[in-house]
Amino acid sequence: MAMHAPLADAPLRRPPSGFPAFRPVLVATERCKGCGLCIDACPTDALALDGARVNGMGYHPAILVDADACTSCAKCARMCPDAALSIFVRPRGA
Ligand code: SF4
Ligand code: SF4
Repeated sequence: MAMHAPLADAPLRRPPSGFPAFRPVLVATERCKGCGLCIDACPTDALALDGARVNGMGYHPAILVDADACTSCAKCARMCPDAALSIFVRPRGA
């Protein structure tokens, strides 16, 4: 599967068409250092560290745990030092 490469200076983008279920946050898990800065920055507690997963660098990566709570505000993406988060705007009706 192709690695998603988020743009650090353009966190708000439209999702690719054909997504089976809308997910407002995409985590590039292999770039995540599990620092938790995004979790602290999220005003709706929509993120957590995935305790069930360890990436190639040995960290528990961030994961979106509450898609409905996410407002696509991108505060998490702006905080991430590794540009590991991509944020999508919820389409109308999704
Ligand atoms: S986009 Fe905003 S609401 Fe959604 S996970 Fe990031 S900080 Fe939280
Ligand atoms: S701020 Fe970035 S590197 Fe840190 S836990 Fe969140 S996604 Fe991972």
